[in-house]
Amino acid sequence: CGIVGHVGPLTPSTASSAPGSGRSLEVLLDGLSRLEYRGYDSAGVALVRPDGVERLTTVKAAGKLDNLRAALDAAAPAPATAGIGHTRWATHGGPTTENAHPHRAGSLAVVHNGIIENFRSLRAEVEAAGRTLLSATDTEVVAHLLDLDFTDRLAAAGEAGTVDPDAAAALLVESMRAVTARLEGTFALLAVTELAPGAIVAARRSSPLVIGLGEGENFLGSDVAAFVAFTTHAAEVDDDQVLLLTADSVTVWDAAGDVVTPRQWEVSWDA
Ligand code: GLU
Repeated sequence: CGIVGHVGPLTPSTASSAPGSGRSLEVLLDGLSRLEYRGYDSAGVALVRPDGVERLTTVKAAGKLDNLRAALDAAAPAPATAGIGHTRWATHGGPTTENAHPHRAGSLAVVHNGIIENFRSLRAEVEAAGRTLLSATDTEVVAHLLDLDFTDRLAAAGEAGTVDPDAAAALLVESMRAVTARLEGTFALLAVTELAPGAIVAARRSSPLVIGLGEGENFLGSDVAAFVAFTTHAAEVDDDQVLLLTADSVTVWDAAGDVVTPRQWEVSWDA
């Protein structure tokens, strides 16, 4: 029932004093705790980084955020350059760790607030494409649809072997537009891929999502509480818009694929 995203500078995780670098997990946990009031039954995070053995880590846990914190302590993920976090209010599938978000498919991970009404026919489609679903959620189907489309685009661009991260991020934007056009229902969707560790791609329809604009880092949240500890500079996301966030840029497209300038405002809030 809550979403938070953070993307900071794409610098080596060990040697940087750039603001926001490597602190995605800290930002996500702060945001998730500030979104607890919305109610939830499980929580999770996906973290990406440009180097190291594991460039995409997902950690999730049924129950309270303390369970997620304990799972994170055990997993001890390396510092991340970008990440997405989620508190879930189950609509499809029980409140288990398997059903908690993020959901992974191929190189990417997805968090989602809302309900995908046509997920049954879409699930049949991804299963027919050879995918095995690990959860009972409507959301995991979207993760696979995105990855199927993304994989096709990577192959068509000849990028499958040596992927340029900027090109990969641009292709994931195309995939997000194509897949969300096929969804019926409500969604705030965030996706990260280990092929573009300095980017978050997002979309929304009838579920809340706002942008937080930082200095050398950017944020997303279901409401401003998710990032108000880090920035009070917010920007609006309208229905059927698709977004690409990097550390130093926020690009928003409308449903027609035209770039739009989001309305911005200053949050007055005593964090
Ligand atoms: N429908 C999704 C699920 O049940 C998302 C629920 C939510 O908004 O937290 O997993």
